[in-house]
Amino acid sequence: MLKVDLHCHSNVSDGKLTPEVLAERACNNGVQLLSLTDHDELSGNVKAREVAEAMGVKYLNGVEISTYWKDSVDVAIHIVGLNVSLENDQLNTNLIRIRSLRHDRAKKIAFDLEKKLKITGVLEGAYKHADNPDLIGRAHFGAHLFELGYAKSLRDVFQHYLTPGKPGYVGYDWADYKDAINWIHGAGGVAVLAHPGRYRVGNSKLLELLGDFKNAGGEGIEVVTGSHSPDQYPVFATLAKRFGFKASVGSDFHSPDDHVELGHLPTLPDYCEPIWDLFDLS
Ligand code: AMP
Ligand code: MN
Ligand code: MN
Ligand code: MN
Repeated sequence: MLKVDLHCHSNVSDGKLTPEVLAERACNNGVQLLSLTDHDELSGNVKAREVAEAMGVKYLNGVEISTYWKDSVDVAIHIVGLNVSLENDQLNTNLIRIRSLRHDRAKKIAFDLEKKLKITGVLEGAYKHADNPDLIGRAHFGAHLFELGYAKSLRDVFQHYLTPGKPGYVGYDWADYKDAINWIHGAGGVAVLAHPGRYRVGNSKLLELLGDFKNAGGEGIEVVTGSHSPDQYPVFATLAKRFGFKASVGSDFHSPDDHVELGHLPTLPDYCEPIWDLFDLS
């Protein structure tokens, strides 16, 4: 089976490497089909493609859109768009809108954290960690609080300050998941539900989410991802089969310090239908 990595982040969003360095690293790790899927932003794709293709590796334009499900800002759902055009007006307009809402949310997060922790300078501190200020996000607040010593690890910072119910969590309603699927389709791409095992919904809600995603036209779900534990791979492979989804593979790599490396995940169980069967890779 082809070695693919169809979900990763550069410093265009909340990753650490530039798109060029990331693509080179993925290719050196043996990836044969790559997609850079920065949050709510397409601009890294040009450079990532350039490097990948120069190294003889196939490339799909990608993006990971921050959406919500069921009219609830607390069920944040990430949708990966693969093989999207970089020039589509509807997709670009909406991603620009989402990025501007990220700035608004950042002010609220900073306000809440400053009040809770009785400190100042949180907004500036977070932006200092954002190589691309337009993609200001929780990872950058996390890095700032970690630097200030508020927790032993970035994971702990998230757990104590940046997840639903915690003082620095501000819900968002930037995009209905159905709209995001339509933008992706309008831009010629396919929609993949990112890391379905990571959403904090119970089993029956998860099945409802998968059904809704299918009904809205979603083509695939991630089965093997750095955000799933290995025991979740067969669970989501089976669910993909049951719902008629293609299966995707992506590290969700953000930085060389991550526990997961580009292109290092196992291949899909052989009863899965790979999402890349939908693309002409000749
Ligand atoms: P945002 O899009 O700004 O809401 O931030 C979401 C991003 O935060 C994810 O893509 C991850 O990069 C990061 N993140 C979420 N949860 C955690 C966690 N528990 N530990 C570390 N990073 C996390
Ligand atoms: Mn991220
Ligand atoms: Mn995600
Ligand atoms: Mn991601």
